[in-house]
Amino acid sequence: MIALTIAGSDSGGGAGIQADIKTFQELGVFGTTAMTALTAQNTLGVHGIFDVTPEFLKQQIDAVLSDIDVRAIKTGMLFSAELINVVAEGMKMQSIPLVVDPVMIAKGGESLLQEAAVEALKTKLLPITTICTPNIPEAEVLTGMTINNESDIKQAAKKILAMGVQYVVMKGGHLQGEFSKDIVYWRGGYFTMKTPRVETKNTHGTGCTFSAAITANLAKGLSVEEAIIEAKKFIQLAILTPLSIGNGHGPTNHFA
Ligand code: PLP
Repeated sequence: MIALTIAGSDSGGGAGIQADIKTFQELGVFGTTAMTALTAQNTLGVHGIFDVTPEFLKQQIDAVLSDIDVRAIKTGMLFSAELINVVAEGMKMQSIPLVVDPVMIAKGGESLLQEAAVEALKTKLLPITTICTPNIPEAEVLTGMTINNESDIKQAAKKILAMGVQYVVMKGGHLQGEFSKDIVYWRGGYFTMKTPRVETKNTHGTGCTFSAAITANLAKGLSVEEAIIEAKKFIQLAILTPLSIGNGHGPTNHFA
């Protein structure tokens, strides 16, 4: 059971590639990586970004996929249109399930995806995506809509499905309310996953950890629906057992 994450490094260990491979390991899946960028980061925020060349990203993806039996792939921070093009080209060559976490802005406000890259994400990567996992601000950027309620969420989900995504997990954590509601849509229907909202500042890397858990579950052979439902249980537990390190947002990916 092997998964590949194509994402950025978080030196603080809470998000990105580090969250992904810890989550894979926790779920009994062997993690392989293709790194898009290094970030100089801690619990207070992103202090610097150093992206790899498109050629070197391609070399990493080719090296892993030409030799290792990867059963599921996820993407996280992709940073630029050039890097997205490389990922899309690489993914077209095979039929492994692809989870796309459309990472755009870190909690501290730093951009992890250049503005010009949004179009590449929509036109090159989403058409070949099995599961896309936007939070509300990301869904707003992808669709150009303002999302305030469940009717907006449904309309935005339809727009994202129309881009070619097979399943979209609309993460409701950014909305108000006693419960955090994630709604999963596909062309034939939808279901809702509802959990009590947890008040904590230690939520760094929650999105990365959730999409990594979905990817690990797919690598283990679970169906798409099961993979998402089990990942939701996993992330809820992770949010309930965070680690308070540093002076800012501690990581979610601490498994008690
Ligand atoms: N750094 C990297 C490399 C990431 O991929 C992400 C999120 O995907 C973040 C930082 C942001 O994490 P958060 O917004 O949860 O603090």
